[in-house]
Parts: sequence; structure tokens; C-alpha cells
Amino acid sequence: MMTTSNTETNQPPPSRRAHQEGAALSTPTNSPRIAIIGAGPAGLYAADILAGRLPDAAIDVLEALPSPFGLIRYGVAPDHPRIKSIVDSLHDILDCGDIHFYGNIVVGRDIALSELQSYYDVIVLATGAVEDAPLDLPGIDLRGSFGGAEFVAWYDSHPWYPQDWTLDAEAVGVIGLGNVALDIVRVLARRPEDLARTDIPPHVLAAFQASPLKDIHVFGRRGPASVKFSPLELRELGQLPGVQMLLEDDDFQFTDADRAQMAANGRLRQAVKTLEQWRKGPSSPGEKRIHLHFYWRPERLEGTEAVSGLTLRRTAPDGQGGIVDTPVTKTFPVAAVYRAVGYFGSPLPGVPFDAARGVVRNAGGRIVDDADRPVPGIYATGWIKRGPVGLIGSTKSDALETVGHIVDDLPDLARAPHRSTDGLIAALEQRGLPVVRWDGWLAIDAAERALGAAQGRARAKLATGEAMIEAAHSARKQL
Ligand SMILES: Cc1cc2nc3c(=O)[nH]c(=O)nc-3n(C[C@H](O)[C@H](O)[C@H](O)COP(=O)(O)OP(=O)(O)OC[C@H]3O[C@@H](n4cnc5c(N)ncnc54)[C@H](O)[C@@H]3O)c2cc1C
Repeated sequence: MMTTSNTETNQPPPSRRAHQEGAALSTPTNSPRIAIIGAGPAGLYAADILAGRLPDAAIDVLEALPSPFGLIRYGVAPDHPRIKSIVDSLHDILDCGDIHFYGNIVVGRDIALSELQSYYDVIVLATGAVEDAPLDLPGIDLRGSFGGAEFVAWYDSHPWYPQDWTLDAEAVGVIGLGNVALDIVRVLARRPEDLARTDIPPHVLAAFQASPLKDIHVFGRRGPASVKFSPLELRELGQLPGVQMLLEDDDFQFTDADRAQMAANGRLRQAVKTLEQWRKGPSSPGEKRIHLHFYWRPERLEGTEAVSGLTLRRTAPDGQGGIVDTPVTKTFPVAAVYRAVGYFGSPLPGVPFDAARGVVRNAGGRIVDDADRPVPGIYATGWIKRGPVGLIGSTKSDALETVGHIVDDLPDLARAPHRSTDGLIAALEQRGLPVVRWDGWLAIDAAERALGAAQGRARAKLATGEAMIEAAHSARKQL
């Protein structure tokens, strides 16, 4: 069930601390000061748990974008409003007045971590992962070769990404057998009139409306028993109106290792059952066709300037749960390739980084140096801590672990010399940075709802950072 956000009711929830008997409403001057970097689910769950465990702490959330909610706003597919509505409960965490949101501050660019440490006793990195994991293939830089993360950021209207996207291919290839690949395929396959009901801005809708796309080829190196798809989302693909699913009988020869994997994993079993139903069931022609190809390993993208094909090598099960190459190759004549092979975290200057895994170096959320010694006062949670896997819910258990370490370590941590958020924000604003406070986000939220209402939908996203900041600051001027 969707919770009603307090933006809609205009009723600010009472302060969390006001509920705690005997708790002071203002923060004592010697109380711990905690900055959380990143207002995605991991950062906000950590803030919420910290506020419960340390009722005296001053907790600020510093976010690079003018908006909170991270990948829920800029990753979760627009046609999944039920998942997107998780922002309603995250909204309440920030709206209760105990935890303060400051947007449009890129830590590491607008302020160095070392400067931030002079204002806060504890810093929690919750910066997530937005980049595409690299895929080193000949032709990967051709026009028409796209990272899945880039495409998602475009259709979800991330303000840092270009607004133009070329959707002129009649046939595309999608590399990957995970949920991001599934999102990309579903959004590409949906009828534009279905997308028109979501929060996507008009320029994204116009691109889908003009797209001549007919064939979507999805490729995985391994067999059907290795898919990482959520069964529910996989089933949804087969229910899209006007879409025909096409699978190849040769791909469905299960080995003993496959059967053992399926026996041990109910979700995998359900996903394979859906694939089998599509393979064996009646298949009536549709406006768009989704071809699922297993046991094909991408070798190179063809073309001189732009993609004109994707060459793959046929693989086969090795009998022990792995795959081996065969001599067979095939070129599929696709004019665009989307690679959905995973996300990757970005380093933050001054924080030890594991460049192989794309995560900050940490032990259970405590940042550690190259010799695995804890770096006092710096912690991590969410995707930047454990890598870009897992659903929104898993960032909560993650935050619990990290907060446990913070609470244990706090008595031994040195105190920051400059003990005022106002001083920090004033310093940033003096440098010309338009910081977006919580009331600024509420103004952006109201502007997007009004824009949506004018178009007969719940919300239409403001598409640029400038428009968001203008909405935030015009509301502030009226105060
Ligand atoms: C395409 C896609 C679809 C998904 N769909 C689903 C789904 O349907 N259901 C589901 O449960 N999960 C889904 N997920 C997974 C879910 O989005 C993640 O589990 C979750 O968002 C991870 O949370 P996080 O807070 O660690 O990172 P993020 O959500 O990425 O949040 C990190 C935040 O940190 C900010 N930040 C980064 N660097 C800085 C900096 N230097 N200074 C200040 N702020 C910074 C970012 O702007 C961002 O707001 C999806 C993920 C992707 C990529």
C-alpha cells in the first residue's frame, strides 16, 4: 500500500526527538555531528537508524543532486511506480525535521572530505554507483554502443546526462541477463502510450514515440539456468501488449549442474519455468519481438563509425557449471547495442578505493587503508560499500551493520573543531554554490506534481539541474 507523503497532506510529522521522553529539542553542543554523503536509500536508512540509536546526534545528509532518493528516482524504471513509491517513506525520514537535507553539493568537488571532517565527527559515505561497469570489446566506442547506466539515466531524466538520445534502430542488441537488462528491454518494448502515464519528461516520451524499433535481441553468455532476473519482472515482460517472445529450443539443454542450481534456488526455478512457457507456448506475431539468446558471448561490435552488427561466439556448458567456447560465431545485424553488465562505484578523493570492485575499501562499513587499518571517523554503506548488487531493501540491513560500528566507535573518536552546519553551508554559498535545502526540494516536488497534473499524470520530472535549482530557489525567495 502506498503511504501518503506529508507533502500531499501539508502536515509536517512531529519531530522524532519530541516523541522521546525527556529528550531535548535542540542538539546539545557536545553531541556527535554526523554527515551522510548521498541521499539514496542507503544514506537515508542509515540516517534514520542513527537518529534512533543516537537521539542527541546532529545528522546532515549532503547530496550531489538537487533531489534526494538516488537511484529510486534515477534508476528504478519509470513504469514501476510501486517501487518508486518507496520514496514516500524515505521522504518522511527527511521531513520529520531531525535530519537535515542539503542538496546540490558534490563532496570531493564542491568541498573536500578533509574540510568536511573539520565540521563533522563522523562521515558516512553512501554515494552508490552510477557508472557502467567496463566491457572491453572491439568496437565498444562506436556510435550506437551504449552503456545501460547511461540509457537508464537518460530515460529517468538524470539532470547530469544529455537530453538527446538516438533511438533510430529497427533492431538492437542488449547484453546481459540481469534486472537492469530486463528494465532496458521492457522500457524499449513498451508502447509509448504506456510510458506517457509515467513521470518521464516530454523529450524522452517524444524519442520513444518516434522510435522505429521492431526487434530486441537479448544475449547471455550462459544458459537459462544462470539468469539473474527477478521472476516477477520476467513474467511482466511476457505480459506487455503487442510483444512476441522468441526463444530457441537448442538453448534449453540442462546439465546436472543446472538442475542442481535450480533445485537449490526457487526464484531461479520460477524464472526458468517462465522461459520454458514462452519457448513451448503459442506465440502470436506482435508489433515488437523480443528474442532471448542464450550461450552467446559477445566478441565485437561491427561497423566503421556506427554500430552495424554484433558478433558473438557460441558457448556450451562445460559440464561443471561453467561454459566453454565453440568454433561457431554469428553476426546479428543490429544498429545499436546496450550493455547491461553491471554498475560501478566511483572513487571519492581522499578515501581508499578498491578499483577492481568499484567500492571504497572497508571492513563491514568501517573504511580501512591499504594495510586494512580502520580510518577513524569514516564509514560506508549501500552500493559504494558492498558493490552494485541487491535491491533497495538490502540497503537497510547494510545500514544497520554500519551504524552498529559507528555507535561502538563513537566514544573514541576525536571531535571536529567547527561545530556548526550553518557555518559550513554559509561557506559553500559564499563560494557561489546554490545549496538546495529541504524546503527547496519540497518546491521542486510541488513543481513536478503541478507539471504532471497539467498533463494528466501524477508527476512530470523537471529535466535539468537548472530548472530544479530555479524551482527550489524561487520558492525560497517567496519565504
Ligand atoms: C537501473 C536500476 C534499476 C533498479 N530497480 C530496482 C527495483 O526495481 N527495485 C529495487 O528494490 N531495487 C532496484 N534497483 C537497486 C536500487 O536502486 C539500489 O539497491 C539502491 O539504489 C542502492 O542505494 P544506494 O543509496 O547505495 O545508492 P544510490 O541509490 O545510487 O544513492 C547514492 C546517492 O549518492 C549521491 N552521491 C554520489 N556521489 C556523491 C558525492 N560525491 N557527493 C554527494 N552525493 C553523492 C548520488 O547522487 C545518489 O543520490 C535498481 C538499480 C538500478 C541501477
